[in-house]
Amino acid sequence: MNPYWLEDERPEIPQRTHAGRVDVAIVGAGVTGCSAALRLAEGGMRVRVYDQRGIAEGASGRNGGFALRGGATSYDVARDSYGREQASSLWHWTERALDRIEELAGDALRRPGSLRLAADEEEREQIRAEYEALREDGIDATWIDDPLDGFYGAISHDRDGSIQPARFVRRLAVRAAGAGAEFREHERVDDVRTLDADRVLIATDGYGHGLVPELAEAIWPTRGQVVVSEPLDRVLYDKPHYARHGFDYWQQLPDRRILLGGFRDVSILDELTDVEETTPTIQASLERFLGELIGEEPKISHRWAGIFALTQDMLPLVGPVPGRDGLWVAAGYSGHGNVLGFACGELVADAMRGDTSSPQLELFAPKRFQG
Ligand SMILES: Cc1cc2nc3c(=O)[nH]c(=O)nc-3n(C[C@H](O)[C@H](O)[C@H](O)COP(=O)(O)OP(=O)(O)OC[C@H]3O[C@@H](n4cnc5c(N)ncnc54)[C@H](O)[C@@H]3O)c2cc1C
Repeated sequence: MNPYWLEDERPEIPQRTHAGRVDVAIVGAGVTGCSAALRLAEGGMRVRVYDQRGIAEGASGRNGGFALRGGATSYDVARDSYGREQASSLWHWTERALDRIEELAGDALRRPGSLRLAADEEEREQIRAEYEALREDGIDATWIDDPLDGFYGAISHDRDGSIQPARFVRRLAVRAAGAGAEFREHERVDDVRTLDADRVLIATDGYGHGLVPELAEAIWPTRGQVVVSEPLDRVLYDKPHYARHGFDYWQQLPDRRILLGGFRDVSILDELTDVEETTPTIQASLERFLGELIGEEPKISHRWAGIFALTQDMLPLVGPVPGRDGLWVAAGYSGHGNVLGFACGELVADAMRGDTSSPQLELFAPKRFQG
């Protein structure tokens, strides 16, 4: 397994050490933990970040590199589930987060837009309903009737992005360390009560299963698998594409390789796991579809698996963990953590510092899963 993104040269991360107790200990140095660390450190708080691996080596260095606005469900479903005001506020909030990512990411983010494709007539009806709901609520989107051979319509989200996620998150870590955050890589936390901190933030998304028993029922670890081809000699796809309800997603990278992920539905129950390994069934499906996408036998240079967290209502959990004094969480992006993780890192940091004005905090409150 060799995640393509993690081959990027790692920047020097300034070494900070805080003596003794800190204001906030963060478990997890992915996009969530690094975004929260930056916000807290810039706000003058003493922060220490722990990761059992290196920075960005969890899902933040193993994903598809799609930087999409919105939540993990389609907009029309979001609107039906929690109302127009909350849904449109969530969509606009993620658009602003993408703009902020652009300010921080440098060449780790491009914004070519994205295409949400329909793979059959039925899906066409579904995405058409989403498109209409977006337009009714004044959210930009373009309808494309005839996007690609074999597809039945598409929504173009013109301001979406493609991110080199590991490069972005390592850059966030450099900034956070520059603002005073201490990073302890390759240090596993087995019991959050042993951390010398006034408050602890769990930022482990799909990886920290079991660390906080109160969250075990709310956050389900789920595996995703990816393949990357050798560079092609031509450009076939100029932006991220996703179809079949997001089960298939692919994009062509600046070096003309195709990254393709998904096909989780081929063996969906097997993929409800935090075992980070590829499987022959899903890899074979990915290879077959990659061949269709490029019109020739694919040559694969990279393949890997990663773990993300699903939640029952496809919304993240951000806020205090019910019944656990001083313990906070930001996780559960249901496969959409590149933008949501960044935004939720900032959101939870602001809430820890006393700013609870964001409407997202009510929508994402972990207490909604209390039994
Ligand atoms: C295959 C795949 C494809 C995806 N594609 C996309 C995509 O295209 N677009 C998108 O928006 N999202 C995508 N996602 C989801 C996205 O990658 C995640 O939601 C996001 O990276 C979560 O970031 P995070 O910082 O919360 O968690 P992570 O990046 O997973 O970081 C959590 C960290 O916690 C550490 N940790 C866990 N337990 C402990 C412990 N006990 N002690 C110390 N450290 C611990 C882990 O080592 C890990 O580094 C994908 C995910 C996968 C797996």
